[in-house]
Amino acid sequence: MSSICAKCGAPAPLQCSRCSSSSYKLCSKQCQTADWKLHKLTCNRDLAILDTPDNKGKGLYARRAFAVGDVVLTEKPLFSITGGLDQATMSRFNGMSEAPKEIIHNMANSHPTAESAMGGVLRTNTIPQGSDRSAATKSSLYAIICRANHSCHPNCSWRWRPDLQKEILVAQHPIAEGAEILCSYVEVWTKREERQKLISRGFNFVCDCSLCSDAELEKVVVEFRDAEENILACGRPGGDPVEAVRAVEHTIQLAKDSGLGSPMFLKSAHNDLRQVYAHMAVHGVVRHKKLYEAKVRENGVEHDRLEKICNGGGGGGGGVD
Ligand SMILES: [Zn+2]
Ligand SMILES: [Zn+2]
Ligand SMILES: [Zn+2]
Repeated sequence: MSSICAKCGAPAPLQCSRCSSSSYKLCSKQCQTADWKLHKLTCNRDLAILDTPDNKGKGLYARRAFAVGDVVLTEKPLFSITGGLDQATMSRFNGMSEAPKEIIHNMANSHPTAESAMGGVLRTNTIPQGSDRSAATKSSLYAIICRANHSCHPNCSWRWRPDLQKEILVAQHPIAEGAEILCSYVEVWTKREERQKLISRGFNFVCDCSLCSDAELEKVVVEFRDAEENILACGRPGGDPVEAVRAVEHTIQLAKDSGLGSPMFLKSAHNDLRQVYAHMAVHGVVRHKKLYEAKVRENGVEHDRLEKICNGGGGGGGGVD
């Protein structure tokens, strides 16, 4: 690890007492004070921004282990934009203080031929606010989260929390100390051809992650995607609700057996399943009540809630938990 002062390059015996990161060294109190405005934006006890071993630039690494569902980080945006990079946005950027500007200038740029360097950085790094990427109108840059590299089989996911006005990073799989934090830049469970197209167009690289280099796992993705399309088809008027249940169960089984579905994912898939059941009950598919009850038990959905749904207590709400 580096033992050169982050500020002046002199031999550096000191480290930051707040994060005690071994990759951030200082020669003196003076240098620490001079560098604090910049360092505080990435100063974190649990995460470190380090060079990747394969020289692909920087990556985000866990400095401790995380369990599934742990909030790895919550972070305020450095800078947000709505729509394109117009003059007003550019002058707002220029009016910011030096430290966040420096961080943004040092971010990766996958679009060197973009209209401007700033445009390239924005296109490479902004994260849309909201769960639906294509529908989000506002997107933001973050000092730490933006350093997370991509994998089609990620161990973390990010989510905008409007109540906190912060982006949160949540562990989707167990993360060991020292492991790289990986997020998917495209929707997970997208077929390889489509993923590769989105990644190449949006980020200008060819993904060789653990999923992209495993043909057997990719077959699971294809099967999963097809089953999902089947669920949608069954949900349309005249669709077969029992077939919908089968298709949802099939996706859950695929996700479980392949290890591709994180426990977080499985939880939300069970919610989907519950909604299909609820939909069936609400729409009077009572003859399937037995199947419904058995399946709900099997899938660990609380029985009292099921009873309520079956007995006309609603179920249109959905999205519980
Ligand atoms: Zn120094
Ligand atoms: Zn620090
Ligand atoms: Zn990949």
